[in-house]
Amino acid sequence: MTEKPFHVLIVEDELKIAEILNDYLTQAGFAVTHKETGLGVVDLVKSAPPDVILLDVMLPGVDGLEICREVRKFSAVPIIMVSARVEELDRLLGLELGADDYICKPFSPREVVARVKVVYRRQRPSQTEATQDKLFQVDEEQGRILARGTALDLTRTEYRLLKLLLSRPGRIFSRDQLLDLCAQPNEPATDRVIDSHIKNLRKKLAKVLPDLELIHAVYGVGYRYEITEQK
Ligand code: CA
Repeated sequence: MTEKPFHVLIVEDELKIAEILNDYLTQAGFAVTHKETGLGVVDLVKSAPPDVILLDVMLPGVDGLEICREVRKFSAVPIIMVSARVEELDRLLGLELGADDYICKPFSPREVVARVKVVYRRQRPSQTEATQDKLFQVDEEQGRILARGTALDLTRTEYRLLKLLLSRPGRIFSRDQLLDLCAQPNEPATDRVIDSHIKNLRKKLAKVLPDLELIHAVYGVGYRYEITEQK
């Protein structure tokens, strides 16, 4: 990172957590600002726009949900919501707050750094990543998706699922959001139906792109699309 530092704003009232995050993110080359309460955060984002916000949900002063809503009125800055309960994540996703990602506490600091890097790469793609972004082409006219130039043999549901996931790399889509895509007339979809579509989709992708892991399960919440090397 030789250009202007990538600026992470941490809004977190648990000082220990904030300190650890600060250490890891600084170590990774990011510039960090920390706010301990929700008060004044919206003004700060206005006066000194960060590149990404790590936003705790439960905060003294103004809570994270309110901050997210307010910030979205004037800014598209990526927001990663941090919540202490996995059950709450699904609710947060359902609220359509316009957050870009969700992390559940307790988290490993490495996981947080990885998520921040996803945002970083999205905003400042390197040469290789710019090429990786062209991995898929969605041909809406013909209703097909090409991977490295080869048309994938997808069912209608798989096509819709993959198109949605590709539309927002790194973003988690909840099961509820995916259910709508999988539902058939007179046949509501279930979690198992989603999982089975995803399983088939992964198999088809692995045939064309065996070296990459593309669709990631987010425990208890849903799925996300992100390019990572197969381990
Ligand atoms: Ca908190």
